[in-house]
Amino acid sequence: MIIVMNSHASDAQVDAVTGLIHQLHLNAHVSRGSERTIVGVVGVTSDDKETLMAQFAQLDGVESVVPISKSYKLVSREARDETSVVRLGNGATFGDRRLAIAAGPCSVESREQLFAAAEAVARAGANLLRGGAFKPRTSPYAFQGLGHEGLHLLREAADTHGLAVVTEVLDVRDVDDVAEHADLLQIGARNMQNFGLLRAVGATRKPVLLKRGLAATIEEWLMAAEYVYAAGSHDIVLCERGIRSYDPQTRNLLDLTAVPLLRALTHLPIVVDPSHGTGVRSLVLPMSLAAIAAGADGLMIEVHPNPAAAKSDGPQSLTGPLFADLMERLAPVARAVGRAMPMEAVAA
Ligand code: PEP
Ligand code: MN
Repeated sequence: MIIVMNSHASDAQVDAVTGLIHQLHLNAHVSRGSERTIVGVVGVTSDDKETLMAQFAQLDGVESVVPISKSYKLVSREARDETSVVRLGNGATFGDRRLAIAAGPCSVESREQLFAAAEAVARAGANLLRGGAFKPRTSPYAFQGLGHEGLHLLREAADTHGLAVVTEVLDVRDVDDVAEHADLLQIGARNMQNFGLLRAVGATRKPVLLKRGLAATIEEWLMAAEYVYAAGSHDIVLCERGIRSYDPQTRNLLDLTAVPLLRALTHLPIVVDPSHGTGVRSLVLPMSLAAIAAGADGLMIEVHPNPAAAKSDGPQSLTGPLFADLMERLAPVARAVGRAMPMEAVAA
């Protein structure tokens, strides 16, 4: 079960709750988020459940006590009825009516390249700039990213166009640096089960975008999100980016089933990355439309001013005009499923 403390609960009230948990020989997992503290109780048997729930509900500072049957608790739909809305500083939101669209190059390569990409995606109506400063490359000889300098460029290019920054953090040692420059910290597919990194990113309490691992089950993915949530970041966006398959026609198999499935299992918002999900430029548009039709809260798309010259993922990158065309075609699909485009006015 989980105990949700009210937003004004004092440390002493949280201590009283954990004190009682320990007195009952159960384990307490305290997750202090920026808005509220949530205490997970582990070890409750089904016989005692009802009595214990009533006992905890009476303690000062407790808002609610929720029984959870799933192994992932804090992120489960049972813990929260409505979808959580992740809000970024520039007004971008994940999980409400308006879609969040992150676009930009695979890697930050140079000032000129990044500024050209930022200008193009902002003009087409995206509200986040993506781009890797630290790149997880299969080969140690491939371009590894500009590192710290790339973070500066991302911040500057995004601020110039009113965009938020989403960028990957690869290493625990870079968490503070990335957290200082980005609005949304990306955990890449290859690190979905890097538990030390999940904990370190969670400890920043900043919003986190958690990509699905290359061969991760939905449950493993939600357990990874549970690590981040338990460590303190309650603003988590899940990103479906395709899983390994046997067919080399596409880079990955984009699992759009995950979108409605996750909607039922978790309160976290969900976005889709059709660029890594397909690896093929011509497939990005149709899969973007399909993702939003399936109920995704947003998209992450690779856009490069000159894909032929890209240092990574050129074959799956859209040009600025192709991205603008995608955004135009997306608008009626979004409307058809009750969503609004990022920059569209929405009645309160
Ligand atoms: C990326 O988005 O830059 C990336 C490397 O994607 P993934 O982790 O999904 O492969
Ligand atoms: Mn890429």
